Amino acid sequence: MATAIPSTAISYDPIFLQHKEAGHPESPDRLRAIINLLQIEDQAGNIRVPSPVLSPTSFFVPAPPISLERLEMVHPRSQIERIRILSMMGGHVDPDTYVVQESYEAALKAAGAITALVETVLQGRAQNAFALVRPPGHHASGTQAEGFCLFSNVAVAARTALRELGLKRVLIADFDVHHGNGTQAVFQRDSQVLFFSTHQSPLYPGTGDWRDTGIATGAGTKINVPLPPFSGDSALLEAYETILAPRARAYQPELILVSAGFDAHWRDPLASLGASITGFARIAEVLCGLADELCQGRIVFALEGGYDVEALAFGVLACLQVMNGRAGAIEDPLGPNRQPERNVQDHLAKVREFHLKSIS
Ligand SMILES: [Zn+2]
Repeated sequence: MATAIPSTAISYDPIFLQHKEAGHPESPDRLRAIINLLQIEDQAGNIRVPSPVLSPTSFFVPAPPISLERLEMVHPRSQIERIRILSMMGGHVDPDTYVVQESYEAALKAAGAITALVETVLQGRAQNAFALVRPPGHHASGTQAEGFCLFSNVAVAARTALRELGLKRVLIADFDVHHGNGTQAVFQRDSQVLFFSTHQSPLYPGTGDWRDTGIATGAGTKINVPLPPFSGDSALLEAYETILAPRARAYQPELILVSAGFDAHWRDPLASLGASITGFARIAEVLCGLADELCQGRIVFALEGGYDVEALAFGVLACLQVMNGRAGAIEDPLGPNRQPERNVQDHLAKVREFHLKSIS
């Protein structure tokens, strides 16, 4: 019997291209490069999913603005109002993080897109999903927008799944090169989210120490794997295979959310972890494999960072091919890093022993 091709839901909205500031690395060009490579717009600018590039079982899900009720499960009303009013005026939340008139609507729809995809997957209408959104979210905590992020998109989707959609345990895996400090802050005291982050260290935002596992009732459910520059694909993959996988099996999540940033790529201008497109595909294989094994394949990817637009677009395509069971089709036109990988075996062994002691 032929194996069924998993169906993949994709969400996107043109408003995501209207959040922009001249010369800023977190630019609409990023999403435009993905749209173009995936060919999910036709000549007239209409959304077309499945596209000639995507699996015929993929389909489009509109990005509604998140409701205030759901947004307030993560952000106090005062913080939501601050972003709304600042957007009307235009300006900066911090020196790195701009807002323009369209930013508030874009941010509402970014959180809304991911949440709509979570509902789609939980209803069994799609096996898995990818939210192509901007602005990103993983640096935004409940009360602080920062690091190009306005609302904590993935956190809002996870909270909705836990409080409204009947789930008890959600895994959030974050392979963006920067620590997902905002997401972790939201769930720091919450054992209903197993949070796993690989990130370059030292690097912005400076959090995500390997001994930081959450506090109070959340203690032990946050797993940080900081990696030095040039650790490369091998170290990243080892973290997912030998730290995340056993912890996920012990935790038994009912849904996996992925903060999918592609700035760990060796060409990225903001970081130097040294990963490749092939490396991203291998991480996606581990994550999709865990979803198949533990939660009926239910996994939703959400776009975070990635500032080399070609590496970003090919990274997203590679993940989608893995999600569609077509890992063999993956192309890595940019190739591996020319700089050799740093040997971080001793560091990884120490971090692994620390994170696995709770389940041994
Ligand atoms: Zn990042």
